[in-house]
Amino acid sequence: MAEPSIAAGEVWLVGAGPGDPDLLTRKAERLLRAADIVFYDALVGPGVLDLIPNHVERVSVGKRSGRHSKDQRSINDLIVRAALAGRKVVRLKGGDPSIFGRSAEEMAALAAHGISAHVCPGITAASAASASLGLSLTLRGLARKLVFVTAHARDGDRLDLDWSALADPGATLAIYMGKASAAMLSRRLIAAGLPSSTPVVAVENASLPGERHVGTRLDLLEIAVRSLGEGPVVLLVGEAMGAASAPTSGFVYPQERLSSLPPRAEYIILPHEKGPHHSPCPA
Ligand code: SAH
Repeated sequence: MAEPSIAAGEVWLVGAGPGDPDLLTRKAERLLRAADIVFYDALVGPGVLDLIPNHVERVSVGKRSGRHSKDQRSINDLIVRAALAGRKVVRLKGGDPSIFGRSAEEMAALAAHGISAHVCPGITAASAASASLGLSLTLRGLARKLVFVTAHARDGDRLDLDWSALADPGATLAIYMGKASAAMLSRRLIAAGLPSSTPVVAVENASLPGERHVGTRLDLLEIAVRSLGEGPVVLLVGEAMGAASAPTSGFVYPQERLSSLPPRAEYIILPHEKGPHHSPCPA
């Protein structure tokens, strides 16, 4: 494969992966070296930013839900202006640019100005999370369908999801931006027919040094995510998530002991009767 180069006035939307710089594609790394300006999101891992050569200008357009530092229109304008000025532009986005990354809006803004734009894919958060857990997102006979869904509505819009389609016991749901709506998610999914005992794993900071996992069941999801911090969280819901033994970093606690847990401990919340997952409480 030829070394990707960036022509003056051209833009590459590049997937930065979930955070671990080793999970960046080789092509992404070459594009970072070929750029002369990089616009990056808040979710791009610090180790990935270290791969940008010193002579390349970096601009944070950091955007976290509820804490917008720049709105999407301003970001589009910045990228368009840099390209029109003849810069070699990389727009670095967490995970894969095409998964809840608003890449289509940026591509449309670039196209409207006749700017040539390309996409380099990245590893999405759900893939990194399932890899850390040693779990497969699909599973023969149990999960034949994998759904990427966001629980974040457009500003001012009601979250309008097809709950009965989502409540498919033969699917794995990878829910992005779902932590703040955990209570509503579990209520709506159970009301739409998903068993309350459906396994869920919440993974915070997948692939980053502060990675945490909480394994639980759908009806206990809201309590479970309370132990997580401020990092990005992906929720993996479905029978395939109960297919392996508990994630290695966690302990299995019975529900009654939740109140005695230290805040932000890593633990797994499962009721007593869940045979295959149950292991003795530590101390
Ligand atoms: N394009 C990104 C998703 C951007 S939306 C991707 O493909 O991964 C932002 C959401 O992605 C976060 O709120 C969180 O739900 C998820 N996310 C991104 N990075 C993550 C990480 N390292 N660990 C867990 N979830 C992550």
